[in-house]
Amino acid sequence: MKSSNDKESSASHPETLLTTLGRDPHNFHGFVNPPVVHASTVLYADADTFFSKNQTYSYARRGTPTSDALEQALTVLEGAAGTVLTPSGLSACSTAILSVVSAGDHLLVVDTIYQPTRHFCETVLKRMGVETTYYDPALGEDIASLFKPNTKAIFTEAPGSQTFEMQDIKAVTRAARNHDIFVLMDNTWATPLFFQPIKHGVDLSIQAGTKYIVGHSDVMLGTIAASERAWPLLQETHGNMGLCAGPDDIYLALRGLRTMGTRLKQHQTNALEMARWLEGHAEVARVLHPGLESNPGHELWKRDFTGASGLFGIILQPGSINAVKAFLDALTLYGMGYSWGGFESLAIYANPSSYRTATKWEAEGPLIRLHIGLEHFDDLKADLENGLKAYAAAR
Ligand SMILES: *Cc1c(COP(=O)(O)O)cnc(C)c1O
Repeated sequence: MKSSNDKESSASHPETLLTTLGRDPHNFHGFVNPPVVHASTVLYADADTFFSKNQTYSYARRGTPTSDALEQALTVLEGAAGTVLTPSGLSACSTAILSVVSAGDHLLVVDTIYQPTRHFCETVLKRMGVETTYYDPALGEDIASLFKPNTKAIFTEAPGSQTFEMQDIKAVTRAARNHDIFVLMDNTWATPLFFQPIKHGVDLSIQAGTKYIVGHSDVMLGTIAASERAWPLLQETHGNMGLCAGPDDIYLALRGLRTMGTRLKQHQTNALEMARWLEGHAEVARVLHPGLESNPGHELWKRDFTGASGLFGIILQPGSINAVKAFLDALTLYGMGYSWGGFESLAIYANPSSYRTATKWEAEGPLIRLHIGLEHFDDLKADLENGLKAYAAAR
């Protein structure tokens, strides 16, 4: 839904926007929150209205007051021309790509991409005759050396999934602009609160809403916000593919948005403090967190991002898979499971060398991805300390 500028507020700090956007109490009997509209059919009052085709809502798949509320809020937060919702983060990635590529086109994808997005490129896109080349996230403006006459889009993600390498998004968008290439970004890690892709020249800004927007590990949702030039393409593809999200899920995402600023601040504080502590721990070889001064991506992160979320990686000292199992099984507060962005802490083992192609992943030992939740820092630290003791004993 396109942003309506008629009620633009002068209070534009993100924390304030999160509480005001996407609701209009005095248009709905004074109730603070917007209604959840469960719908398919929308009735027309009379035949004239039916033939005029200018009724605001025509069919629930094409939008409801509930989807409009979330889309309008995100459009303002992202600084976009418009936003659409999809049933999952992965469908947001695939829909964004399909909005800009056609058979015979070439797509550049960062080697540190979320693995299921890579799999989409290797299966569906390949079958549709779209060729994908993966590139080193360290390439800035030099990405132009990989451009072909048929290169149509670049899919970026920063920091990268599982290994957290930063990318110079500004340099990539600068290179792309000279060649009329679309730039897409999976910005799930930073959220529009800590990085605004469209303001940095990106055309399609993607969120797995499942993560921080929803924030409570109870909904699957994707969002795509578009620049002025990409918005008509996104609207057309999203509409033709028949994508929409359920009203209760959208409502929970809107509710999540209200506390996202507060939650992210706590995730950031807990995670940065944990990363610093882990950096000095004897069982940890390296910490993968762009907010740390020691991280190779720190300068880029500091230049472009206004914060860090709760997800980062650690490389343990060399040890066997059995030692990794001892570490994970010793944890009581960190759940072992995919996804992240909820209130709770998580720990999983990851092996990036199994799927990378453009770069080689080399690490001193096993990689653990941590999501630092909203529990008390001391409890989270003590739990990790226990896990690392178990690791030390088993390796
Ligand atoms: C989880 C995730 C997705 C996919 O989101 P789903 O809602 O699980 O489909 C996409 N990108 C990144 C970076 C993710 O972490």
